[in-house]
Amino acid sequence: MTESPDEERRRADLADALAAVHERVADAARAAGRDPAEIGLLAVTKTWPATDVALLTDLGLAAFGENKEQEGAAKAAELAALRPDATARWHVVGRLQRNKARSLVRWAHAVDSVDSPRLVDALEAAAGKAVDAGERVDPLEVLVQISVDGDPDRGGAPVDEVPALADRVAGCAHLHLGGVMAVAPQGIAPAEAFATVWELAQRVRAAHPRATTLSAGMSGDLETAVAYGSTCVRVGTALLGRR
Ligand SMILES: *Cc1c(COP(=O)(O)O)cnc(C)c1O
Repeated sequence: MTESPDEERRRADLADALAAVHERVADAARAAGRDPAEIGLLAVTKTWPATDVALLTDLGLAAFGENKEQEGAAKAAELAALRPDATARWHVVGRLQRNKARSLVRWAHAVDSVDSPRLVDALEAAAGKAVDAGERVDPLEVLVQISVDGDPDRGGAPVDEVPALADRVAGCAHLHLGGVMAVAPQGIAPAEAFATVWELAQRVRAAHPRATTLSAGMSGDLETAVAYGSTCVRVGTALLGRR
């Protein structure tokens, strides 16, 4: 593989940033008495080109987050062309319109931002059709997104609706309930927000023992999220730079 100087520089920058993120996660895990291996890293690649995703797969990453259906679909296809042998799991992490469900199930492995019964039903129907059409084999993994402050504009289900939503996902033939996801809202201390999320994650897990994922923590607050039991940090800026 011959590489342009720009590409070489980008590869080195991404390698440095990735090492720094791994170190932050490991330090936070140790400070919390946890095993760093319990905490996965989802690289949020929204707005960044597929060439960056390709470099991240070279560096050993395999889980990528996108917040727009069309951008994600295009990038997944580009990555498949750039790195036909790479393993990549694509997560949708942003607000999703129900009419995007049918195209999403063709390329996404997981939706981390499910926040309404109608979206659950749309994804179940779409995933079922995709299976029938031979477009996918595995169930779609779903995380229920928690809105800690209940602000409907920022995505996520209000805290008191989360258990029922998790039950609904668990009852779907073509969806697999992975757990919960949250973004710490502005105006609430992250520790307080993540404590609420942790409690809710325990409730969901008590009802659904395989729903072990707690996706919490981004570039700015991953240490706090790891202290409160995060099993997956979603990192964009600290890896790829400012959008
Ligand atoms: C963009 C985004 C991230 C990554 O945020 P950074 O601050 O860039 O690390 C994580 N989660 C969600 C839901 C996002 O939309």
